[in-house]
Amino acid sequence: MSDFITIFDTTLRDGEQSPGCSMDTEQKLEVAKALVELGVDVIEAGFPIASPGDFEAVQKIARKFGDQTTICGLARCRAEDIDRAWEALKEAQNVRIHIFLATSPIHREFKLKMAEEEILKKTVEMVRYTADQMAKRPDITRPNVEFSPEDAARTEPDFLCKVVEQAIAAGATTVNIPDTVGYATPNHFYKVISYLKQNVPNINQAVISTHCHNDLGLAVANSLAGVEAGARQIECTINGLGERAGNAALEEVVMALRTRKDYYGVDTRINTPKLCPISRLVATTTGMRVQRNKAIVGQNAFAHEAGIHQHGMLQNRTTYEIMRPDDVGYVGQNMVLGKHSGRHAFRDHLKRMGHELADADFQQVFDDFIALCDRKKDVYDADISALIDKRSSQVPETWKLISFHTFGGSGTIPTATIELQHSDGRRIQDAAPGDGPVDALFHCLNRITQLTPTLEDYQVRGVSSGKDALGEVTVDVEHQGRKFHGKGVSTDIIEASGHAYLQALNKIAAGLGAKGTHAQHGG
Ligand SMILES: [Zn+2]
Repeated sequence: MSDFITIFDTTLRDGEQSPGCSMDTEQKLEVAKALVELGVDVIEAGFPIASPGDFEAVQKIARKFGDQTTICGLARCRAEDIDRAWEALKEAQNVRIHIFLATSPIHREFKLKMAEEEILKKTVEMVRYTADQMAKRPDITRPNVEFSPEDAARTEPDFLCKVVEQAIAAGATTVNIPDTVGYATPNHFYKVISYLKQNVPNINQAVISTHCHNDLGLAVANSLAGVEAGARQIECTINGLGERAGNAALEEVVMALRTRKDYYGVDTRINTPKLCPISRLVATTTGMRVQRNKAIVGQNAFAHEAGIHQHGMLQNRTTYEIMRPDDVGYVGQNMVLGKHSGRHAFRDHLKRMGHELADADFQQVFDDFIALCDRKKDVYDADISALIDKRSSQVPETWKLISFHTFGGSGTIPTATIELQHSDGRRIQDAAPGDGPVDALFHCLNRITQLTPTLEDYQVRGVSSGKDALGEVTVDVEHQGRKFHGKGVSTDIIEASGHAYLQALNKIAAGLGAKGTHAQHGG
C-alpha cells in the first residue's frame, strides 16, 4: 500500500487573487465543479474577509460541494477573519479553515512588528480559537485546522520548529510550509522539511504540506522535494496560476508523481484525463492563456514533429513518450467531425474529450456545432471545446444582439450600426463611429446600453488552425471599481468582439462583477 498525497487546490484563492485572474461567483462555481470532478482533496475557495464577493463565492461553493470534497477558506490570525471564514464555510460537510501568520525575521520586523514570543503566543491562541469555533458544530470531533507560518522558507529553522510544534499542540491538523516568495531551491526545501521531521517532537500528529511559489521556476521541483522529505500535502493551482510567477502547477506535480511512481512510491486521487479539460476551462475563464510548450497541458506537449522521433514512435510509443495523451485528456488538433456526424457520434466524441453534458446543454452545443459546420469546413476538437466553453459562460441577457453591421477600410470613418433587444421587449437601434470597426462597435454598444465601462484588456485568438478558424475574443472591463469579463466565439472576429463586449455589459447590468482589489495575500 502506498501513501496518498493530498492535493490541495488553491486556484480559486491564490490563483484568483493574482493580477488579471479575477473570476465572478458563477465562474468560481464552475471551476469548483470541475475541481470536484478532477478529484482534488481540498478546494481553497477564497479569503472570505477580503470582500463580500469572496465571502459569497466561498459560501456558495461550501453549500454546493461541501459533501463531495473538503472546502477550505483562508483567514489571517485574527478572530474577526476566522469568524468570517467560519460563517462562510459552516454549512460544508467537510470543512477546513486555513490560518496564517508570518514567521520570517524580515516579516516579523517590517510587516508585523512582533517579537518571536508574540508570534508563538498568537499562533497558539488563534489555532485554538479556530478549533474551538469549529468544534461548536456537533458532528465535528477533530476540527480540520491548517496553520501556515508565512515565509517559512526564510524563517530560522529552530524558530520554525518551535512555531510548528506549538501550532500542532494547539490543534493544527495540517502544517503548511510556504515558500511565499519563491526563494527556496529543491535541496534547500528538502532540508527544511527534513529538519521539521527530525526536530519537531509531535510532527507525526499533523500532515506536512508544501506551498511553493515559482519566482525561480522551481515551484514544482520544490514541492516534489518536499514530498521526498515527508510532506503529504501539496498546495497547487491549475496551470500554475498565482501571485507573480505563480504557484506549483497541479497538472505537473500530479503527473510527475504518477509517471515516477517507481521513485516516489506515492499516489494521488486525481482523475488525470480531466487535466486538459480543466486547464482549458481555467485558461478561458481567466483569460490567462497556456503557453504552447507548457508541460502536460500545452498544445505542443504531445506533438512529435522531428522525423527521427516519428519513426521511433511508430516502432513503439514509449521510445519518446513517457505519458500517453489519453492519460491527461490531451486534445490535439486532429480533424474530427463534419456536418453529417449524428447526435450519437457527437455525444460519444464529447465523452472522449472529457465532457458529459446534461441534455439541455448538450442540445445547445450540438445546435451550435451544426451551425458552425455551415460556416467552417473542418471542425476540430479545439473548436468543440470553444463551443462548450461558450455554453458554460452563460449570463442573464438583459440585452440581446439582434443585428449588427460595421463599415471600415482606409479613407473612410469606421462606423457600426447595431440593433439590441432589452429583456423588457424594447428594441433599440443606434450607430456610432470609432477608430476601427471594433472600436465603433463598442462605442455603439455603450450608447445603446448607456453603460460606459473602461476597456482594460482585449484579446483575439484563433482556437484551431485554418483560415476559417474560430476566433475567440476576451475582454476585461472596469465599471465603478468592479471588474467584468466577457468572451465571444465566432468565425467572424468582429462578431466575436461584439458578443464578448456585450456579455461584459450584461454582467454589469446583472451585477455579476468580481471585486476590483484584493486584501492582503496569505501564504
Ligand atoms: Zn501563495
